[in-house]
Amino acid sequence: MTKHTVTLECHHIATFSDAGPPILGDTIYCVRCQAMREVTEAPPEYRIRCLRCTFTRMLGPMRLTAEVKAAGHVRRKAHPVAIYNGHKRIYVMGEKRSEQDTPLPFTTEPIEPPF
Ligand SMILES: [Zn+2]
Ligand SMILES: [Zn+2]
Repeated sequence: MTKHTVTLECHHIATFSDAGPPILGDTIYCVRCQAMREVTEAPPEYRIRCLRCTFTRMLGPMRLTAEVKAAGHVRRKAHPVAIYNGHKRIYVMGEKRSEQDTPLPFTTEPIEPPF
């Protein structure tokens, strides 16, 4: 059985041996402080979430997998996609910074033939 160790904001360590251990940004009960503490270090658990639509994925410990999936959505939909480790947002991929390359507004209406 795998042991998961996380570090809390009080620098105490908590160990979990079951599935679904806490992730970065979770708040859990510290037995030594006898208080709720935020998890400040945990095994990586990458998630991606689109800022424009409901697209979201949990992708496990590999950051590359998360980046490849996020890049795919950015390319197909031109949506900015936030990459998270646990509940902590690391960065946003595909966010437009310059006004020059504003994407064309998405339209579902059929294009009229020019005659
Ligand atoms: Zn503590
Ligand atoms: Zn999207």
